[in-house]
Amino acid sequence: MNEPREGPARIIDGKASAAGLRARVARQTAVLAARHGVTPGLAVVLVGNDPASEVYVRNKGRQTLEAGMRSFESRLPETTSEGELLALIAHLNADPAVHGILVQLPLPARIRETAVIDAIDPHKDVDGFHVVNTGLLAARGAGIVPCTPLGCMLLLEEYVGDLGGLNAVVVGRSNIVGKPMAQLLLRANCTVTIAHSRTRDLAGVCRSADILVAAVGRPRMVQGSWIKPGATVIDVGINRVNVETAEGLRQRLVGDVDFDAAMQVAGAITPVPGGVGPMTIACLLGNTLAAACAQHGIDRGSLESSEIPSRTPDTTEQGKES
Ligand code: NAP
Repeated sequence: MNEPREGPARIIDGKASAAGLRARVARQTAVLAARHGVTPGLAVVLVGNDPASEVYVRNKGRQTLEAGMRSFESRLPETTSEGELLALIAHLNADPAVHGILVQLPLPARIRETAVIDAIDPHKDVDGFHVVNTGLLAARGAGIVPCTPLGCMLLLEEYVGDLGGLNAVVVGRSNIVGKPMAQLLLRANCTVTIAHSRTRDLAGVCRSADILVAAVGRPRMVQGSWIKPGATVIDVGINRVNVETAEGLRQRLVGDVDFDAAMQVAGAITPVPGGVGPMTIACLLGNTLAAACAQHGIDRGSLESSEIPSRTPDTTEQGKES
């Protein structure tokens, strides 16, 4: 890997990897229920009716049920106050059937995101955004890890293997992607550079990368000429752009990387869609399972069993199922 190569880059198939991860989580969930009587529960909270968020929440709910978990959905009106949202979070924190809580971002401008994230019990913070979890990741390489960067790391482990000593450049320094991504790459012994909107010679910085992660939110910003030949490119960006088709103007999803140009230079690359995106929800399910295990003092590794014992009664309290 990461050798200059002839011909187009290898496509990193996030859809296939995510399907494999979801199947593994579903198997472990079945063993958890049968052996310990615990069914992981994920609560997703959506405030308002942002169309993209509606789609994400619907997909999360469907995939949670498919993994054999409980899905709890709270849809609150756009007019919801911060106090009302905090009261709901307190209720979910106290509900033993809920092992993971996710508040869909962005929230209406009136509601302080930090106040909401701070209110989630860190043990149920399956997004990994609470300062306890970001602190654990930074200081001890532990805690609940944010789903998108975790998904990127799993793809890198699968397609590159040992990352030790490689130069990694992360473009973007958000709390949900860029910063935790850099921490994870550091934990994997990469030499890590974080680039952002004030970085000088961004193209030159990117060209030094054996591993290039783009998490910017600017369609096709990373050019082919910014990529070191043979590099592995992880495109986190999800951007909707208008394209002219035979049927007229249509919306299309593109990443932060100029995919066609990058294909001619990179060693491997994630497509958009079908790369990082599917891994994010699969990792959310994995985090929910891990949170349920931790809350019940169960070693998740012990669930890796090909045999599923006959089901015992569920001991977790029944919540409002969606
Ligand atoms: P964000 O919070 O808006 O952060 C964007 C980052 O990019 C910031 O750190 C910003 O720098 C940097 N940036 C902006 N313009 C730049 C430029 N011209 N040159 C260099 N850096 C620049 O975004 P985010 O939440 O991290 O998300 C990034 C992208 O990933 C978005 O497209 C989002 O939709 C996508 N995303 C995908 C998934 C998934 O599941 N696949 C999950 C989450 C996010 P400053 O800090 O200096 O402003």
